[in-house]
Amino acid sequence: MPIKSRIKQASGWLYLTSSKGRAELRGSGVILMLHRVLADDASAALPHRNELCVGQRAFEGLLRWLPRHFDCVSLMDLLKVHEQPRGNARPKIALTFDDGWRDNAVNAFPLLQKYQVPASIFLSTDFIGSRQRFWWESMGETLWGTYGEQARHHLIEQLRKIGRPLPAAYFMNERCNARSLSLARYLQSLKNLSPQALHMLTDACPTESMPQAMDYEQVRELENSGLVRFGPHGASHALLPFLDDQSLDIELQRSHDALQQGCQQPLPVYCYPNGDHDARVRARVAAHQYPYALSTRPGICRGQDDPLALPRISVSQHSASRPLLLAWRISRGGRA
Ligand SMILES: [Zn+2]
Repeated sequence: MPIKSRIKQASGWLYLTSSKGRAELRGSGVILMLHRVLADDASAALPHRNELCVGQRAFEGLLRWLPRHFDCVSLMDLLKVHEQPRGNARPKIALTFDDGWRDNAVNAFPLLQKYQVPASIFLSTDFIGSRQRFWWESMGETLWGTYGEQARHHLIEQLRKIGRPLPAAYFMNERCNARSLSLARYLQSLKNLSPQALHMLTDACPTESMPQAMDYEQVRELENSGLVRFGPHGASHALLPFLDDQSLDIELQRSHDALQQGCQQPLPVYCYPNGDHDARVRARVAAHQYPYALSTRPGICRGQDDPLALPRISVSQHSASRPLLLAWRISRGGRA
């Protein structure tokens, strides 16, 4: 293990166990942000998956580790942190999952039940029970070669045609990790493409046999357990600040209506796709009766945050399998 990582983990451990660190954390809340939970840890560790994926084994380790230092509570209990006196309360931590991946129901939920840890899942509601696909997943996996060489070459050609050729590093690297890293950086660079271009490119990827998102039957099963609650993460996963006023209202209303129909008790918390928001988006989210919203800004909740831009700490395969790295990030107010 690199020396830098060891030093970070040691300082994370000191933070959690020292009286200074404990005093700083007393009465605060940490909202963790996860996306996918894959069956296989080695596959989740590849750089182009690492940020958005955690393996089942690392996730189980995290669920065992968290209660030693935090009270694992539901998101709504954590948000009450703002209303309670700090006292001697242990820090609270709440798990959130973005997008509504099918693997949350298949791989994460059994472990949440086993350890009785509550969680909140934020659904991009157009995807639920449909075969619509998330562009970064379909393109990332096609370019990784998961669906074979023919599909990979076809997509590379489409990308070249729209003036977004893959970088030389992607073709030069035979080594798994370096190739995956160049793919991760390349996928980041595609975020500024228009939604139309991203749709066209996703359509150029092969259709998978299984849908990527969970369906309403799974939503009901998870909700009935009493451990999981659901909230909106957009309808189409469009980045909200880029929508005009009318489209923004339609997007917010559609996601709201879908959850009202598909869930018993949807959360009064909005989760911005990609964490993107501005003053206009926050005002419209509040007007749609959401007193709280989650951003992707790193940080911990100490009761002074804008309730419509609450910070979170993201969990990757790397940090889930080394939870003291998470402790280190918490000690730095969420900064990496
Ligand atoms: Zn998302």
